[in-house]
Amino acid sequence: MPRYKHLFFDLDHTLWDFDANAKSSLADLYTLLNLDSRIQIDFEDFYPKYLYHNEILWDRYHKGLISSEELKWKRMWRTMLDFKIADEPLAREMSGQFLEILPTKKILFPHTIEILDYLTAKKYALHLITNGFEKTQWSKLNNSGLSNYFTHVITSEASNSLKPKKEIFDYAMDKAKASLPESIMIGDNLDADIQGAMNAGMDTIFVNHINARPEIKPTYTVTHLQQLESIF
Ligand SMILES: [Mg+2]
Repeated sequence: MPRYKHLFFDLDHTLWDFDANAKSSLADLYTLLNLDSRIQIDFEDFYPKYLYHNEILWDRYHKGLISSEELKWKRMWRTMLDFKIADEPLAREMSGQFLEILPTKKILFPHTIEILDYLTAKKYALHLITNGFEKTQWSKLNNSGLSNYFTHVITSEASNSLKPKKEIFDYAMDKAKASLPESIMIGDNLDADIQGAMNAGMDTIFVNHINARPEIKPTYTVTHLQQLESIF
């Protein structure tokens, strides 16, 4: 029955729990930089404001209105501004440390290891297609114990492209020596992973951890990684 041979996974928000890891990293940052006494803002007050500004700035970054560099430090800066603290050097220091800590975190979505073991035992070739830097993504994979599961790890940095662009999917298929009918993309992002892979001619599995209502139609949808067992 299974015609698929090559399974291409997304990493962030699909296997690696980005939000939980980011929260844990910010909590560490608080301790490391002694922020409780330096800025006198409780972490529980800081964190929701950070999420708010982070989302707005990511949106501006995706629209090409700000650079990645601005995104990185301004999310800290704007959060502190909400508490009447204007400290650019501190915001830049926080940003730098945060990005050092984040890829050392290892919180995965439930059943990540079990499903990768299951798929490996069934002889599927597993790969990753991830928008991110080589060093950061490999650090996440090594620290969370995922690196040995994947034959090819395609990052946007190495492929010189970015999901949802067709080029990164073409590059991945070429690297893995995979054909379209035997390949499927598995990811959480409707635009980058699902629409992107559809445009490249691949079947798709939407990992719907947050109960979104997609307007496009993936080949399959799962709400939990364990459900992949019913497909493969
Ligand atoms: Mg993702």
